[in-house]
Amino acid sequence: MDKPIAIITGASTGIGRSLSIKLSEHYLVYLISRNKENLNKTKELINAQNNDCKIIVSDISKNQSINDIYSQIEDKEQIELLINNAGIGVFKSITDTNIEDWDNTINTNLRGSFLMTKMIVDDFKSKKNGKIVFISSVAGLQPYKNSTAYVASKYGLRGFASALREELREFNIKVMTIFPGAVNTPIWDNKGMDELRKDMIATDDLTETIFHAINAPNNCVTEEITIRRTSGDF
Ligand code: NAP
Repeated sequence: MDKPIAIITGASTGIGRSLSIKLSEHYLVYLISRNKENLNKTKELINAQNNDCKIIVSDISKNQSINDIYSQIEDKEQIELLINNAGIGVFKSITDTNIEDWDNTINTNLRGSFLMTKMIVDDFKSKKNGKIVFISSVAGLQPYKNSTAYVASKYGLRGFASALREELREFNIKVMTIFPGAVNTPIWDNKGMDELRKDMIATDDLTETIFHAINAPNNCVTEEITIRRTSGDF
């Protein structure tokens, strides 16, 4: 039998790459992000494990991308899982946060997740099956200074996912939100955090936790998971 399809945004690096490799054991994974070269690297790692995936180069913050992504998915009936992972981090004071920073952050982290969810939700509703995972952040649960746009996007994501969960229960659709603390990924590049990388959560450890949650029995859903360093935030 053909593998079910999982769609993951932000699959080109970091958490998305690690999750994509793990998911490819059970799913035909559609990898989405803007950087083709990095997506190809993820594909190589998946192929090296004798698994398969498809690449769609796209910017999820743009309305027109969504039709384009949907049209490239060959067997839509087989879509079972959407992971809204793509995100950017702007860590600046409010004085330094300009309108472009604000718009890019909200349009990627929050609006992009809304658009991707809209793309698949009617298919999930009509077949009364499907799972939608949101990669939020501990910044979606508590505020941090120098992160107004990021925190606003991740609080918004929690609100969106929580309302969506209530609406989709009667359709047997699971909605899960993950709140990771600091994970060692390129999101921290050029942000003065290199010294701390060795003490961050490893992507593959986070992936194991998420994968376990996705595979819970059909009649239960792991609604929210917070996973942070045992010793707390930096
Ligand atoms: P990352 O390595 O920088 O990954 C971000 C991913 O999002 C990349 O694949 C990037 O790919 C993609 N992306 C960004 N803008 C996009 C857009 N407009 N359209 C499509 N794809 C886009 O960082 P990461 O840490 O793995 O981040 C993944 C998620 O985890 C984010 O939502 C982040 O907020 C969340 N998170 C991270 C941490 C952490 O400490 N690392 C903690 C909590 C939550 P392209 O550049 O190729 O488009």
